[in-house]
This record gives sequence, structure tokens and C-alpha cells, in this order.
Amino acid sequence: MFTLKDYIVPESIEEASQLLNQNRNNVILGGLLWLKMGNKNYNKGIDLSKLGLNTIIENESSIEIGCMVTLRQIEISKVLNTYFNSLLVKSVKNIVGVQFRNCATVGGSVYSRFGFSDLLTALLALDTHVHLFHGGVIPLEEFINMTYKKDILIKIIINKDTRKASYQSHRKSATDLPVLAVAISRYNSHWKISIGARPNKAMIALKSSELLSHRPDQIESACNQAVSEMKFGTNIRGSAEYRRELAKVLIRRGVEEICR
Ligand SMILES: Cc1cc2nc3c(=O)[nH]c(=O)nc-3n(C[C@H](O)[C@H](O)[C@H](O)COP(=O)(O)OP(=O)(O)OC[C@H]3O[C@@H](n4cnc5c(N)ncnc54)[C@H](O)[C@@H]3O)c2cc1C
Repeated sequence: MFTLKDYIVPESIEEASQLLNQNRNNVILGGLLWLKMGNKNYNKGIDLSKLGLNTIIENESSIEIGCMVTLRQIEISKVLNTYFNSLLVKSVKNIVGVQFRNCATVGGSVYSRFGFSDLLTALLALDTHVHLFHGGVIPLEEFINMTYKKDILIKIIINKDTRKASYQSHRKSATDLPVLAVAISRYNSHWKISIGARPNKAMIALKSSELLSHRPDQIESACNQAVSEMKFGTNIRGSAEYRRELAKVLIRRGVEEICR
């Protein structure tokens, strides 16, 4: 279990940022589910729960998800159940259990950029930006590959387009981490194939997405292209070879679901 010397609930995001940068051992607290797996001794724990960042807001052209929104809020959100064939809802509903999802936050999930992240894989298939206190608003794709800098993730912004989407994942048992996760979307004729838990971080299969955008009937070629343009690795959940085969199956299922 980790320890904190002090626990602070700032009144403003500016104060939170100031506190974060005061000492390299100060830390932002999300739902604590990941932090408590470690045994680090932190100085100050900064709790953002008084800053009103726990809402999902639908605007005219976007959906904004605050960093303190829980995975459970995503799962039961009317807005997120309306758009993108419930892509985000489907991506979180296999994560551990309801009590866990009641605590785990969007901020902790996205800022950590875990290779196995279901949510990141899904968000990447949409037109998503992250809003960082210092870093400003940047595309998620850029954020995923940035080096880790101390900053506060304020919210996620998703462009509200008419995209159709599908989420596919494979787990060895119901509550385990995914062996592989695939999120696919089609906006007009433009396809996006995002593959996560490879076991590395989610990435867009660019050439495969482009191939499908020009030749939507070429599903098999798109599957083969995706596994040849991306690196797959081996860990306790599966071998690289297994993941490559799995990717072809999950991509095909996703594309077929969207075309149905
Ligand atoms: C046992 C277990 C099983 C899991 N299984 C899955 C799974 O199957 N699929 C999946 O996708 N995920 C899984 N996860 C990950 C989980 O869904 C969360 O992503 C994870 O717990 C982090 O969220 P949190 O709110 O608990 O963050 P915390 O543990 O509180 O924080 C994690 C990190 O993020 C930082 N942080 C938090 N909020 C912010 C912010 N707003 N700005 C900047 N930094 C911030 C913290 O400082 C810390 O470094 C699992 C986690 C655990 C512990």
C-alpha cells in the first residue's frame, strides 16, 4: 500500500497544479485503484473532487468527460449510450466489476496510458482530444505517445460526429485484463482501427484503416495489413503469434458489425 504524508483538497485547478509542482513526490489522486497497488511513499496527495470535474457534458459539437468521472458513470451515461453505438460503454463494462468501476476514474485511466487500457483503445477510434492544464488541448493520439510530464488531465473532449463504431476484446476470464482490445469506427467512408493490449499501448493501424476506407469490401486484406504494420508482443496473457491471429478475428467482427 502507498503512503501519503499529507492529503489536500484544493479549491481551484490552479492551486492543484501549484501543489503538484511544489515537490516531485506530490501526486494527483484519482480513484486510487492503481495507486494502491504500489508501495511508494508520496508527500502530498491532491484530491480533485471539489473542482466539479465529475460530469459528462454534451455540447453542440462535442462531449466532454471530466477527469473525475468514474468508469461506472461512463457505463450508465445516457449520452454515451446514444453516440458511437455505445462504444465507450462497451469498452468499460468488462473492467473488473461494478464496485471497481464506481471508483476508477477517467483521469487515472487516461493519464496512466496503460498498454492494456480498454478505454484508451476505444477513445482512440473516435475524434478525441485531451485537455491538460499546462499542455492545453491536444489530440489523444499525440498524448498517448508523449513522454510522461507532470500535468493535470482536466477532461476528455470527443467530437460529436455521426460515427458508427464497434468494440471487441478478448479476455481469458471475465474480469481479467484483456489479451487484446480492438475498437473500430467508420465516419462517412473513413475507417479507423485502434488496437490495444498488444500488449503495448493502443495504436491506430493507419495503412489498414486507409485500405478499408478505399476498399471496404477488402476486409481480409485489411486484417492482414493491420497485423503486419503493428508490433505484437508476448506476456503472461498470450503470445505475439496468438495476438496476431486474434487481431484478425476481432477486426473482422468489428467491421462486419459496423457494416450490418
Ligand atoms: C486490479 C485491476 C484491474 C484492472 N483491470 C483493467 C482492465 O481490465 N481494463 C482496463 O482498461 N483497465 C483496468 N485497470 C485500470 C483501471 O481501470 C484504472 O485505469 C486504474 O485503476 C487507474 O484509475 P484510478 O482512478 O484508480 O487512478 P489512480 O490509481 O488514482 O491514479 C493512477 C495514476 O494516474 C494519475 N492521475 C489520476 N488522475 C489524474 C489526472 N486527472 N491528471 C493527471 N494524473 C492523474 C495518478 O497520479 C496516478 O499516477 C485495472 C486496474 C486494477 C488495479
